[in-house]
Amino acid sequence: IAQRGQLERILCCLSGYSVGTDSLSKSQIPRLSKVNLFTLFSLWMELFPSAEQQKKSQVKMSRLTVKKSGLVVVKNMTIIGLHCSSTDLHAGQIALIKHGSRLKNCDLYFSRKPCSTCLKMIVNAGVNRISYWPADPEISLQNEASNPMTTDDAKLDAKAVERLKSNSRARVCVLLQPLVCYMVQFIEETSTNFDFIQKIAKSQPDFNTDFYTACRQEKIKEYESLFLISNEETHKQILMTIGLENLCENPYFSNLRQNMKDLVLVLATVAASVPVFGCFGFYSTDSQPANETHHQGLPQEIARHCMIQARLLAYRTEDHKTGVGAIIWAEEKSRSCDGTGAMYFVGCGYNAFPVGSEYADFPHMDDKQKDREIRKFRYIIHAEQNALTFRCREIKPDEKSMIFVTKCPCDECVPLIKGAGIKQIYAGDVDAGKKKADISYMKFGELEGVTKFTWQLNPFHTNALEFHDPMTRESKWFFIFINVFYD
Ligand SMILES: [Zn+2]
Ligand SMILES: [Zn+2]
Repeated sequence: IAQRGQLERILCCLSGYSVGTDSLSKSQIPRLSKVNLFTLFSLWMELFPSAEQQKKSQVKMSRLTVKKSGLVVVKNMTIIGLHCSSTDLHAGQIALIKHGSRLKNCDLYFSRKPCSTCLKMIVNAGVNRISYWPADPEISLQNEASNPMTTDDAKLDAKAVERLKSNSRARVCVLLQPLVCYMVQFIEETSTNFDFIQKIAKSQPDFNTDFYTACRQEKIKEYESLFLISNEETHKQILMTIGLENLCENPYFSNLRQNMKDLVLVLATVAASVPVFGCFGFYSTDSQPANETHHQGLPQEIARHCMIQARLLAYRTEDHKTGVGAIIWAEEKSRSCDGTGAMYFVGCGYNAFPVGSEYADFPHMDDKQKDREIRKFRYIIHAEQNALTFRCREIKPDEKSMIFVTKCPCDECVPLIKGAGIKQIYAGDVDAGKKKADISYMKFGELEGVTKFTWQLNPFHTNALEFHDPMTRESKWFFIFINVFYD
């Protein structure tokens, strides 16, 4: 009976009935559910470009990707922490250091089933729910052996995890929800409308977006090898070891694999929308005092990583026409224990109607509607506004803080961002200087005191490449940064 109860719980989670799902009727465009968004964020955090990794790739260490684990800490369905493991600490240990007893009643989304070292502390802190991606567990990171899951330590750990799980108040489960119909197609279509792809397309003959398709295919291959287990039998073996034998039977097993595959497709499709392409990146052409650390830009890989977080958030939008995502990060004065280096999460949001409103409460029409009174613009809360409102940390005046927005901030938001004391904006600027019927983007260009990093061709790239061609790619980048800020 107990087993059947457990099976039902898992199946419930898989089909998405046990947690608040977003019915399609609320908005007519496909939306990512919150649970799927958190799961995607946990996977994405595994790929956070850490300083350690950058150093390693500079000295050309043999392994290109250092496998990590990612973690999203959620309180009342709002993200309060984005973490990834470092060389010394697991993601769960980092969450404990960072949040302590504030973990009480939180939901944790892991990219790997946490090991017993992490789980005992997290359970002890009184978390509400622990969800994990049902592929390689965390313990597999510690063993370099060919099949790490079969070592005695791994088996002992798995047993301890099961025991901790069955004796804890927290629910330890796999929370995956099937995507709504056409979600992947919708993301693929809309990705090309964003500033990042648009700007590159303009530089291509015939304005084509073939490079996006190529980049997407490359990402799909890369992420499938990172997050999925290609061999079904191996996957079953892993599920057995981590206590998910119930999921090894069909149709549950094939549903689970399809579900995982779909989410990896979403991640690859979104990640390809801010591509590594030629000399495109986030650059500032503002004249700022070069010695001011608050104006120094992030390494391109980190800026791109954070913008892709914002792009993921955009698929939670309640606006039919344009999804916008925004995320705020800040940098502490010194490096912390987190795999994110000195950076920490402050807040995030997407454009939506006021919290708690029902579908029919507010108008949804845009400027095609002649009657201005029934247009949406006076009711929609912008992504930047939601990120500021629901932030979990204060914006400290003496720290470098930055907001990543998927499109140009409008005239409502620019003074808010500046007023909040945010030091840097990373955004697209295709709309900058435009005035539309109910929304205008005039203030962004003139904004002073906040450094703007917009998606563009590296304005300094010619001289850096000419003089330093024998260098490796990494040191070239480094040189470009030096150029930007000290030239
Ligand atoms: Zn651990
Ligand atoms: Zn705005």
